[in-house]
Amino acid sequence: MLAKKIIIANWKMNLNLSETLALAKKFKEKFAGFKEGEVVICPSTLTLDHVAKIIKTGKLKLGAQNVFWEDKGAYTGEISADMLVEAGCEYVIIGHSERRRYLFENYEMIHKKVRAVLETEKLAPIVCIGETIEEKESDKRDFVLVEQLQQALSGIDVFGNQQIIIAYEPVWAIGTGTAIEPSEAEYAHKIIKLALNDMFGMQVVSKNFRIIYGGSINSKNVKKFADLEDMNGLLVGGVGLKADDFFKVVKEITK
Ligand code: PEP
Repeated sequence: MLAKKIIIANWKMNLNLSETLALAKKFKEKFAGFKEGEVVICPSTLTLDHVAKIIKTGKLKLGAQNVFWEDKGAYTGEISADMLVEAGCEYVIIGHSERRRYLFENYEMIHKKVRAVLETEKLAPIVCIGETIEEKESDKRDFVLVEQLQQALSGIDVFGNQQIIIAYEPVWAIGTGTAIEPSEAEYAHKIIKLALNDMFGMQVVSKNFRIIYGGSINSKNVKKFADLEDMNGLLVGGVGLKADDFFKVVKEITK
């Protein structure tokens, strides 16, 4: 696994333009001298260009919350991977459970998006996987995780320094205020790593993949996640909207 942890703040559809710019400026100040890890902010699509200008001289990186799989054409409302690169993005979230739930995004679409993103060679996909509460309660978690990985990534070539982030996000833990037990997250990450090793080989996995956790992380519970095996970072929602708390989370996980 790559040594540097990555912490991604997904601002979702929570902030208007002026709120976004104000938070981006606060983040920039907070992380001015930060070098222990990689911090990515994912504001709404409309604000990407503005945020890119603010953070261009600092330590933060820019990510988008969604992408389309075609590079050009009559696809009303969609945005291509190249357009995101042009806006200054280095990362893009793919297949977040909110998109799977509200927009019926499925793993065939997720697969096409991952492919399109990797083809740019300038953008890294953050692929979200995770079980629902029903799947957890019927003991299907491990199967679901492997299946989602295979559907998203089978047949995809990973070469050079291309990076892929796998975000393990148990759907039932997102936005609830209660994170999964750290030992459960560690176990799920192990399953994910084994499945990736099977698909891509250990060398590629350790060079090109990072596995991160997402689901109700805050400045108090993060400590318990810091030393877990195969824990290469975090994807956060709520805490990513509070600059001070987010900074504490990042410091703690990268200690
Ligand atoms: C998320 O939406 O991916 C997420 C992790 O949100 P929260 O941190 O608010 O649970």
